[in-house]
Amino acid sequence: MNKNTIVLFDIDYTLFDTKSLKDIVYEKYFQDIEKALFLENLKNLSEETPLKKRIRECLWKEVGSHLLYPETLEIIEEFSKKVLVGIFSKGHQKFQREKIKSIKKFFEEENTHIFLDKISKLPEVLAKYLDKRIFIVDDSLEVLIEAKSINPKVMTILVDREGKNFENNFKPDIVIKNLKELEKHKIEIYA
Ligand SMILES: [Mg+2]
Repeated sequence: MNKNTIVLFDIDYTLFDTKSLKDIVYEKYFQDIEKALFLENLKNLSEETPLKKRIRECLWKEVGSHLLYPETLEIIEEFSKKVLVGIFSKGHQKFQREKIKSIKKFFEEENTHIFLDKISKLPEVLAKYLDKRIFIVDDSLEVLIEAKSINPKVMTILVDREGKNFENNFKPDIVIKNLKELEKHKIEIYA
């Protein structure tokens, strides 16, 4: 195994199908309100309103590793045999960990980074791996741009599942539609 390379994976929309979780919770529990209102309330769940409290409870009921993308397990298992794999995710510790429960054995605790404010923690997380080649796999262009500006040697991999045309001057090093496409870049990542 090449311990000089770390691949840091985001959770939401990268390993985990967050859209399905939201859809399931809406369909099952919130048909009585407009979906737009539901989605608006989802954006910031930390406030204490009765609706947000109910949404939080229902998300907890439905969250779980069964909502990982179909290719997630295979790819993480494969890559974990060749390089270090880690987590770099935004959100609440307990909730994020619940999403990846079934694949947690592939990630060392010291390489698992979950924060409410991911962008502000980027310098600290990248500094931890200064002696390694770093790949960041994320669906957020903002995170990749920031990572590249902090350390230009970081290899940025954008997960663009919807095939959006990102209007931006920034070009990620690699763009993939799903994790399975990481296999096309194996040689580069394992090097
Ligand atoms: Mg994400």
